[in-house]
Amino acid sequence: MAAPKTNVLVDGFGRRVSYLRLSVTDRCDFRCVYCMAEEMTFVPRKEILSLEELALVSQAFVELGVTKIRLTGGEPLIRKDIQTLVKNIAKLPGLEELTLTTNGSQLSRLAPSLFQSGLNRINVSLDTLKADRFKEITRTGDLAKVLNSIKVAKSAGFNNIKINSVILKGRNDDEILDLARFSIRNNLDLTFIEEMPLGLIDEQQRDERFISSAEIREHLARIYKLTSSSEKSGGPARYYFAEGHDTRFGFISPHSENFCSSCNRVRVTAEGRLLLCLGNENSIDLRAITRNKPGDVDVLKEAIQNAMVLKPEQHHFNDAEQVKIVRFMNATGG
Ligand code: SAM
Ligand code: SF4
Repeated sequence: MAAPKTNVLVDGFGRRVSYLRLSVTDRCDFRCVYCMAEEMTFVPRKEILSLEELALVSQAFVELGVTKIRLTGGEPLIRKDIQTLVKNIAKLPGLEELTLTTNGSQLSRLAPSLFQSGLNRINVSLDTLKADRFKEITRTGDLAKVLNSIKVAKSAGFNNIKINSVILKGRNDDEILDLARFSIRNNLDLTFIEEMPLGLIDEQQRDERFISSAEIREHLARIYKLTSSSEKSGGPARYYFAEGHDTRFGFISPHSENFCSSCNRVRVTAEGRLLLCLGNENSIDLRAITRNKPGDVDVLKEAIQNAMVLKPEQHHFNDAEQVKIVRFMNATGG
């Protein structure tokens, strides 16, 4: 097959794709209520991309101009030998940033070797600072372990850790200010995420629990003077500074502040499905392509380039008729 004509990824709406979110497993040791059902069926192991396949897919994207890769899942740190994958991706010429999103359960054990393997940044998900509530939200997690992980990761050398918090009305909206104070005290950035309607989650009525980024900013504005920042992280968050503090507050607002026009991202699921948009089912099967021609990076590159026309103009999370996404977030790679 002929090699691709250009070395960049541009979709049908002229958007340049430079950011890959790569799911390394759909499995997880938590069962967060907004992400998974209590009883989950996971993909059989042979259907998950191997570490070699994950590295090859990453190479294909980086050779096509992707400069940022985020490893995610499921819980990426329960994937065996994740450090080897980090090492192999981190050394790809042209990659500027390799990051990872984790629930923090295994991070204290792995942070030093991840840092040495070349991981640049870590996001830790943390929705509450109350141990009993943490258990309720994650169903299995231990808050003390996660808090300790953050400390260990900082001393391992990760000095720009970001906290991700999904805020839900009646569940943890009373902790917006506490999470802000915690982040300031520990010199961490903090991003608030609006819940997205992925998967058929039995536990909650999503509309009733929804709280917008603007409402969260109103809470923060009670004690902080917020100034919006033009800074971008390469992701969908909008940032604000609190006067007198270094902490940046980010807001990811798929419902209330549509960011599709500047979307630069695609996702690859743990099974190797290239998803062009989180809120849409358009995809191609990279696993089939790479298993048909093992080790051939050019065949992957051509398929990825051809898939760009499938990237939709925008998601339709606010349109009840159109939202029929039954993927769970862990399967998608959040
Ligand atoms: N297990 C890792 C973690 O929790 O950080 C990485 C994967 S998780 C799917 C990535 C992020 O997606 C987490 O910050 C999580 O809070 C968020 N998330 C999961 N389900 C979500 C949903 N329905 N809406 C918005 N964010 C969600
Ligand atoms: Fe696991 Fe992350 Fe989903 Fe929670 S949000 S269940 S930690 S994958």
